[in-house]
Amino acid sequence: MAKRGGNGPVPELSTRTVVLGVICAVLLAVGSWAIDTYGGQGILPDWSELYESFGLESPAPDLQTPQEGQATVTFLDVGQGDSVLISSGGEYCLIDAGTQQSADTLVEDLWAGGVQTLDLVVMTHPHADHIGGMEDVLENFEVETLLLPDLSASDTESGLLGRVLQAAEKTGTPCVQAELGWQQTVGEGTLTVLYTGLMPDDKEDVNLNDTSLCLRYELGQFSYLCTGDAEADAEEELILTSGGSLSSTLFKAGHHGSSTSNTQSLLSLVRPQVAVVSCGLDNEYGHPHAEVMDRFAQNGITVYRTDEQGTVTVTGQADGSWRVQTSSVQTEEPLAPAA
Ligand SMILES: [Zn+2]
Repeated sequence: MAKRGGNGPVPELSTRTVVLGVICAVLLAVGSWAIDTYGGQGILPDWSELYESFGLESPAPDLQTPQEGQATVTFLDVGQGDSVLISSGGEYCLIDAGTQQSADTLVEDLWAGGVQTLDLVVMTHPHADHIGGMEDVLENFEVETLLLPDLSASDTESGLLGRVLQAAEKTGTPCVQAELGWQQTVGEGTLTVLYTGLMPDDKEDVNLNDTSLCLRYELGQFSYLCTGDAEADAEEELILTSGGSLSSTLFKAGHHGSSTSNTQSLLSLVRPQVAVVSCGLDNEYGHPHAEVMDRFAQNGITVYRTDEQGTVTVTGQADGSWRVQTSSVQTEEPLAPAA
C-alpha cells in the first residue's frame, strides 16, 4: 500500500510533470521569440498567419514590426480614404488619417500595433478622406511634428480642418509648413518633400487635390512615393520640380487610383515595382478606374488594393527587396463626403 509522501509513483509523476511544464514553457518562449524576430521569413509563419491558420482574427493584424535594415509601409484599411504608416527602427510616420468613420479603427489599430508616439504626422491636403481621423490621432498619441500643406485656400477656423488645427494647438503639437526639400529621418530611412502642391494665384480656382504634398521615403535601395490626391497638372509640376528623378520601388496609386491622376508620364519616371490603391469597396467614384488598372498592368506593376485585401503592408529592405502582406479582410465603410 502506497504511503503519503513515500517513494511511490505519485511524487515521481509530479516531478516529471513539472519538468515537462518547464520544457514546454521554454519551448513556448523560444517559439514566441523566434516568431517575433523571424516570423514571415522562410518557412516560419508570423503571428497573423498563425492566427489565420487557426481560423482566428489576429488581435493586431495590421501592423508588422520591421527588422533592422527594414521599413514597413502599411496602407491601413480606412475605406474610401488614405492613411499610411511608415515604420522603421522604432519610429513612426503617419501620412494622412483616413475618414471620420474610420477614426476609431485607425486609433485602435495603431494602439494594437504598439504605437504610442508618432514622430511625424503628415497632412497631404485638407480633404475629409485624408484628415477625418486626424483630430483623434492628435488626441490619442504623442505627435512630435505635424507637417502641413499650403492651407491658404482653406478655411482653417472651422469645420474638420479647423478642429484638427485646434486639436494640434490644444495638445501642443508643433506644426510645420512643408517646404520643398524638407526632410526628416524615420528610423533608418529619410522622408523628403518633393513637391509642395499647385496653388493658383486666384485661390477661388484652387483644386485642393493638386495642393497635395508629394513625398518620398528612402531606405537604401528601397523607396516609397506618395503623391496624395495630386491630379495630372500637379503630377506634371512634380516631374518638372524633381528634375524627373522619381524612381521608386513602391507607389501609392494617386487619388485612390483615379484616371485624373497616375499619368503615363509619371509612371514612366517612377517605374514602381508595386502600387497600392487605397479605396473603399464599391465606392461611388468607381475608384480605382479601369484605365488606370490597365495602365499599371501595361507597365508591369503589381497592384494591391485595400478595398479587396484589407490593410496592405509592404516591408522593404535596404537592398531594395520587398514583400507584401495583406489582412484580406473586406470592409464596407460608409462613404466619405469628399474624395
Ligand atoms: Zn482622397
